[in-house]
Amino acid sequence: MESTSTSKTVPPTVVILGGGFGGLSAAKTLANKPVSVTLLDRTNHHLFQPLLYQVATAGLNPADIAQPIRHILRDAGNITVVLAEVSSIDPSSKRLLTPQGRSFTYDYLIVAAGARHSYFGHEQWEGNAPGLKTLEDALELRRRILGAFETAEMAESEEIRRSAQTFVIVGAGPTGVEMAGAIAELARHALAADFRKIDARKTQVILLDAAPRVLPTFAEDLSASALKQLRHMGVDVRTNKTVKELNAEGVTIDGEFIASRTVVWAAGNAASPLARELGAATDRAGRVLVNADLSVPNHPEIYAIGDMASFTHQTGTALPGVSPVAIQMGRRAGQNILAQIDRRPTRPFKYFDKGSMATIGRNRAVADLKFARFGGFLAWLGWLFVHLIFLIGFRNKAFVFLEWAWAYFTYSHGARLIYGAFRPKVSPPGSA
Ligand SMILES: Cc1cc2nc3c(=O)[nH]c(=O)nc-3n(C[C@H](O)[C@H](O)[C@H](O)COP(=O)(O)OP(=O)(O)OC[C@H]3O[C@@H](n4cnc5c(N)ncnc54)[C@H](O)[C@@H]3O)c2cc1C
Repeated sequence: MESTSTSKTVPPTVVILGGGFGGLSAAKTLANKPVSVTLLDRTNHHLFQPLLYQVATAGLNPADIAQPIRHILRDAGNITVVLAEVSSIDPSSKRLLTPQGRSFTYDYLIVAAGARHSYFGHEQWEGNAPGLKTLEDALELRRRILGAFETAEMAESEEIRRSAQTFVIVGAGPTGVEMAGAIAELARHALAADFRKIDARKTQVILLDAAPRVLPTFAEDLSASALKQLRHMGVDVRTNKTVKELNAEGVTIDGEFIASRTVVWAAGNAASPLARELGAATDRAGRVLVNADLSVPNHPEIYAIGDMASFTHQTGTALPGVSPVAIQMGRRAGQNILAQIDRRPTRPFKYFDKGSMATIGRNRAVADLKFARFGGFLAWLGWLFVHLIFLIGFRNKAFVFLEWAWAYFTYSHGARLIYGAFRPKVSPPGSA
């Protein structure tokens, strides 16, 4: 086999930045191939983000939806997993740097560092309206959601009780819809018998979006079905509503103030800031405008994939930030690097879209499988099946299946723990 810049006996070095859906898929493609791979991630685990909302709403535990990356890749002798945060990339010297001054050089680089939330220029809102991307985010949201019920139980005024039992979710995409449905169910079923002073069933869940319909990326009939299912669960859905102000007391939308102690941000995404270091053009969400073969313009040795890449070559608009796109891109980037090493031409990426699904709650979901669109119980069963199949690791599949079966038959959420001390603010502002 021919090598590039290194000697014939030393295999080319590939660095993969990120062990999420894209990075892990690239690593599996390069496993046990004649390349020396280093996978860098700032966490030690691969996270199954589609089920994060269940950790946030006390349905699952963190270990149910995450796996140590080095364990997943234990049989790939040519891959070294390093727990490290990358703070900058220097394409001219082919080097990545960590805040501690460590550096990693590469012959080929796959950048798959994902995305964070975007507050559309209102970054100061983050403290009062956290989003959901990591296990820390999910545990923080769980602490706030369960803590809100504790606050309501101890409230010294009706005003405080009401704002503690009002949950606002900003953004009615799949994550917002899932969060709204899950909080409504938590209140109406799992917590209903646990409190003495409050009636948990009287909890108000408000789902806001600036767009005219929920699940705007789905077909209109599925949006309408999701809206009906959400309303049936008691979720107050308000579309065409833009958040104007947000603070610790609540949210202001188009002149109306909603008093709420718990606001969840599910409204926007921005690619990892590392995308800007690659010297290529980016779109409004900060994603790299990649070439058809996923390489970065003017850098055939660098590939950007997953939530960091804007790939418009297939449909004219950027592919959505979903896990199948990242997985398939990871595979193509890995295959293209092997092609370059073998001095074969790289191949353009082609996304195979199997459809999309969103769950709303118990027995409720919508599915667009290309050949059929439907909502309700069948869509929900399909959603459960697909998520179990794609969850990594047999242990995780088994535990999640058991947790779901338990929750389904008992209406209970088994993970209702608040980690750390929680001090509810139960007095009106200004009092002791
Ligand atoms: C709450 C939620 C629900 C979702 N639900 C669905 C769904 O139902 N279906 C679906 O298809 N998609 C869903 N998605 C989207 C899907 O998870 C993403 O599209 C997918 O994870 C993108 O893969 P990625 O590899 O680009 O990034 P990620 O999977 O986010 O991986 C990025 C990795 O890079 C690491 N990293 C980031 N920055 C650094 C750094 N500076 N140094 C070192 N490491 C770094 C991170 O720790 C992470 O491991 C959901 C996303 C979220 C947040």
